[in-house]
Amino acid sequence: MLEIRTIESMPFAENSYLLWLPPSKDAIIIDPGFEPDLILDAIEVEGLNLVAILNTHGHSDHIAGNAAMKEKYPDAPLIIGQNDAVMLVDPTKNLSRFFGADLISPPANQTVVDEELLEVAGFRFLVREIPGHSPGHVVFIYSSTAGNENEPEMHILGGDVLFRGSVGRTDFPGGSSAQLLAGIREKLFVLPDKAVVYPGHGPTTTIGYEKRTNPYLT
Ligand SMILES: [Zn+2]
Repeated sequence: MLEIRTIESMPFAENSYLLWLPPSKDAIIIDPGFEPDLILDAIEVEGLNLVAILNTHGHSDHIAGNAAMKEKYPDAPLIIGQNDAVMLVDPTKNLSRFFGADLISPPANQTVVDEELLEVAGFRFLVREIPGHSPGHVVFIYSSTAGNENEPEMHILGGDVLFRGSVGRTDFPGGSSAQLLAGIREKLFVLPDKAVVYPGHGPTTTIGYEKRTNPYLT
């Protein structure tokens, strides 16, 4: 059964997610942000071993903690969508220069592409690329059949694509509102209504709730 902890980093109220599948202690972190010590503390409190670092996209608030993760867990590969990998090491592209402090992450150890299956720490994620907020934004979709085989639980680590009642900004360089909305409709709204979305900012939501109520998409 999936265990997931949300760790919120200031100043952008960015959500990092720590995931593992007990009884395994191998964990992954999604989008370590500007307060990596909170994540390292959570890993220690839970007695976990970090085996991979996943980034949904290359914006600074989602990659700022990569260096601290790699320093403590050098063998954990850093994984990001192939079209956002360049942002890790480019302060203009990752927007840190825009916000006033150049930030460079360690480079990617592995990149993923649309529809790839990523197996790590006992998870098998379906990767879907949904550009529009950033050029190579990906979401990681985990289906658990631990309960009813016919009705798997689905968990979407969604980054800044779809929020509760909103969608990701598209006014940054390389952004496209048309691309983002089309991607949400074609690659997320085809998933079950009960699928849970864990967004990069704000509270969790479900595909069904956003289909019915999201003002950008109804
Ligand atoms: Zn972003």
